Amino acid sequence: MNARLGNHQYRIRLKAKDKQFVEEFDRRVSTVLSSRVHKLWKTKDSEFYVEIGSYLLYSFLRRSLQELKPFIEHCESCTSAFIRGFFDSAGCVDKVWGRISGSNSDLSLLGYTQLLPSKFLGIKARGPYLVTRRGSILTRRGKSYVRKGDCYSIYVACSEVMEFWHKIGLAIERKRLRLEHAMGLGEDASVGAGGGTCTRHDFASRAGSGI
Ligand SMILES: [Zn+2]
Repeated sequence: MNARLGNHQYRIRLKAKDKQFVEEFDRRVSTVLSSRVHKLWKTKDSEFYVEIGSYLLYSFLRRSLQELKPFIEHCESCTSAFIRGFFDSAGCVDKVWGRISGSNSDLSLLGYTQLLPSKFLGIKARGPYLVTRRGSILTRRGKSYVRKGDCYSIYVACSEVMEFWHKIGLAIERKRLRLEHAMGLGEDASVGAGGGTCTRHDFASRAGSGI
């Protein structure tokens, strides 16, 4: 995500190759800001992005993880939403076994995210484990890049994925369907999936208290 200041406006941009992820981000942000959904743009590299102007949201997202923890841990729904957002963004679901993994180069973020499911939802996750080292080559859409940092992963064990699906779920349909397929669930299974929303967080009304 990039945020830039221009024309006295704070703009937040989310860019990703996964169109569903960008659309889901925009839907959630638009709900929080009580605004209409924003126009989706496509780059010449076939990536998608949205741009949102909001000083309040910009300031909120610039906070450190330590400062955001009270919001993440506000209630079970908020904790679930944070974990779901992480795996929607950085997660993979194994096609056969349904094992869920999430990767990132921010070790403190991963360590925290790994502890949350067991601390608040009774779901065990393992890691973080080092999976690729700084300096190794990453090939993406035909281009090669040198990794600037070590990359780590956390895992939700196969034995825990049903609980994960019930209590947390995945918002990105492609990933959710892969998980449900690996668990042997039918097409109408999503009614039982996680995804509750906390109704006690009113972003706008808390703006004056520092959000
Ligand atoms: Zn909450």
